[in-house]
Amino acid sequence: MPPHPASASLGHPLPAGERKPDASREIAIVGAGIVGICAAAYLAEAGHRVTVYDRTGVCEETSSGNASAFAFSDVLPLAHKGMIKNLPRWLADPLGPLAIRPSYLPKLLPWLWRFWRAGAPRHYEASLAAQAGMMKLAEPEWMGLLDRSGTRGMLREDGSLELYEGEAEFLASLPGWEARRRFGIPFRHIEGDEMAALQPGLSRQFVKATFVPGWKTSIDPKLLGKAVWAYAERLGATFARRQVAGIEAAGHGATLRFADGEAVKADRVLVAAGAWSHRLAAGLGDRIPLETERGYNTTLPVDAFDVKRQLVFGGHGFVITPLSTGLRVGGAVELGGLDLPPNFARSKAMLEKARRFLPGLKTEGGREWMGYRPSLPDSLPVIGRSRQSPNVLYAFGHGHLGKTQAAATARLIRDLVSGQAPALDLSPFSPQRF
Ligand SMILES: Cc1cc2nc3c(=O)[nH]c(=O)nc-3n(C[C@H](O)[C@H](O)[C@H](O)COP(=O)(O)OP(=O)(O)OC[C@H]3O[C@@H](n4cnc5c(N)ncnc54)[C@H](O)[C@@H]3O)c2cc1C
Repeated sequence: MPPHPASASLGHPLPAGERKPDASREIAIVGAGIVGICAAAYLAEAGHRVTVYDRTGVCEETSSGNASAFAFSDVLPLAHKGMIKNLPRWLADPLGPLAIRPSYLPKLLPWLWRFWRAGAPRHYEASLAAQAGMMKLAEPEWMGLLDRSGTRGMLREDGSLELYEGEAEFLASLPGWEARRRFGIPFRHIEGDEMAALQPGLSRQFVKATFVPGWKTSIDPKLLGKAVWAYAERLGATFARRQVAGIEAAGHGATLRFADGEAVKADRVLVAAGAWSHRLAAGLGDRIPLETERGYNTTLPVDAFDVKRQLVFGGHGFVITPLSTGLRVGGAVELGGLDLPPNFARSKAMLEKARRFLPGLKTEGGREWMGYRPSLPDSLPVIGRSRQSPNVLYAFGHGHLGKTQAAATARLIRDLVSGQAPALDLSPFSPQRF
């Protein structure tokens, strides 16, 4: 068989251990968010023939408007004692860091119950260790992909600053930092002049901060996603705008059925459809408790304030990120499913807080946005095969960390498709763990 143009066009051959060990396969990927796009790049690099199907476009949905962090130090699962202690206070504020849309509560209860159980010390420790392992892989995989795709110039390596309004908030954060220390994550607690130097112009209500030097961002998540896609395309990957209605096992492969009734067959199908993935998995008999944590933000003009690095207001559940395309203010979690309309009062509430935290912030001229974090109760993604249809693979459920973990996920999927031992023990990420 002649070499596939993908492998022929690689500027630098993959190391021997990473070259495809068996035949080039026809791979269909459902979802052109950052996870699907990175998987397309890795699979095309390995010589597979890749087509990505998405109902909108490349990184046009949740992966387009996120906070752009490579949050490699963010290893703490969301369900933990400290967080659960904060719940009553957060839930009391309808526009605060966490809200549940009342009409959605009955549907949400089973997920909330699993989330609660995930916070038990034994489960929490297991998820923490798995997440730390994933992050250890995430950073070198992203750095390698940025280099190979010629996108390293889109990286910002200026760390992050987590800010505390008082001693009590700072002290409450310490167990989380100690947990990170156990996994070798560097950070420094700072105050006074050092804090002011790292971010001039902060309100005096912030008395302490933690500087995380290894935290990185990209100049814009959508631009990065599109640039990685351009690389995958150069390697031979193709895109088709299609709504996938279902997937069926088919002999040595799987069939995608589109909403218009047409169908295509592929050797392997990868479901990377973000917060919608469980609907496709359910059709194959895999019941995966995926929920969405809706998040909101506003992107202000670039000159709204001179923000030096990503600022994290943990007590208020939002961040401020300087991007080449603007200053992005937002975060928060709204548990309200996939169908209810957005409530942009949440973006406005965070913007108003940001104006108080950074006196002088110009809040005019912003673009509001909402996205759907695909979230599993134990804060770990699903990476693995369908139980009944092993030619269908899953890569979804990365919650707050999909951009951060996209390249590592792509590496693991390439390992599975190419029949190599995965770079990580995949049991904590198994689709069958629920
Ligand atoms: C406010 C906010 C801030 C965030 N900040 C960060 C951050 O700083 N760092 C970080 O790492 N993560 C962050 N995240 C999380 C991150 O954005 C997500 O985890 C990530 O974008 C998920 O990527 P994905 O590729 O899995 O899904 P998506 O980006 O949602 O892509 C899935 C794609 O699948 C398509 N699709 C779905 N169903 C079908 C179908 N049936 N047929 C065809 N196409 C389909 C959709 O159209 C979509 O394009 C943030 C999220 C939010 C909401």
